[in-house]
Amino acid sequence: MCPVQCGCGFVVLTALICLLVSGADSQERAYRTAGGSLLCPLVEDFYSYKRSTSYGPSRWGEISECCQGQRQSPRDLASSSGSLCGGGQHHMFSYNSSRALPGKLYNNGHDPTISFHGSNTAYLFNAPHTNGAYILDNIHIHFCTNAKGSEHAIDGQFYQGEIHLVHYKASYGTLAKAVQQEDGLVVVGIMLQSRAGYAGDMNQELVKIIQRMGNLEGTGKEYQLPVQLNVARIFPKSTNFYTYEGSMTSPPCSESVRWIIFREPVNVSSAEMDILRRLPNEDRSSTVQSCNDRPLQTGHTRVETNFACSSVTNMAAEEI
Ligand SMILES: [Zn+2]
Repeated sequence: MCPVQCGCGFVVLTALICLLVSGADSQERAYRTAGGSLLCPLVEDFYSYKRSTSYGPSRWGEISECCQGQRQSPRDLASSSGSLCGGGQHHMFSYNSSRALPGKLYNNGHDPTISFHGSNTAYLFNAPHTNGAYILDNIHIHFCTNAKGSEHAIDGQFYQGEIHLVHYKASYGTLAKAVQQEDGLVVVGIMLQSRAGYAGDMNQELVKIIQRMGNLEGTGKEYQLPVQLNVARIFPKSTNFYTYEGSMTSPPCSESVRWIIFREPVNVSSAEMDILRRLPNEDRSSTVQSCNDRPLQTGHTRVETNFACSSVTNMAAEEI
């Protein structure tokens, strides 16, 4: 996930100064909870997904100490790692709204993103192992110029892309405050699939949104487009999911995320993938968006599966 609307447009000199000054500062502010999670504040430093650069994923630990933690994401999710439903538990999560939400669509240089604000957003309830309501802050997409664009893998399989719905706990007030809490964020992930010759169902809500992204003329918030999105319509038909305790997948990599990853992907055509791949990248050096997927992380975590039960994303209204 990349919930941080970072300084992607910083020139390199500014980035170097920021890295030297606030990099050290953010390391001092890293905090480990009694439960073992490493928490860090949001950073404004430049970072890159390019493996070969000095700002690439292998150097993110110099931007934020959390990027070297033990509960880092993304992960390869193994379907054999147990079933919550087999243990008698049953998770159902829901939103308080089934209407189309007005948002602002833009390209922050890393991810095409839709941001939501104030009363024009939805509240998520009953996410596994959480209490209280979570506010939908933004939706963004990870992808790559090749076929491996998802951040998470399922039984070793990657997909062409991965959509992240980023929520923060309402009682913390802001995304920035929630990032520094162990139960601060819930991110729902949906795998994006595009297969040559596939003639089955396309996710029309996503097709509509991605085609709108093709009208973005540049990077940064000065190139925003209004958009309407119905969250329920971008979910796959099967709502079976994996869940685990992990981190943001971009700096500051704070270990404040309850992940919910749908097992079933959604489909878009190769035309939509091509639109994503033509978006300008983070340093504007190319008209082609570079890959924005963090490599898989290792370390201790317990991935739970929810296969055996009929978990549903119930969009019925709920009091907040
Ligand atoms: Zn993301």
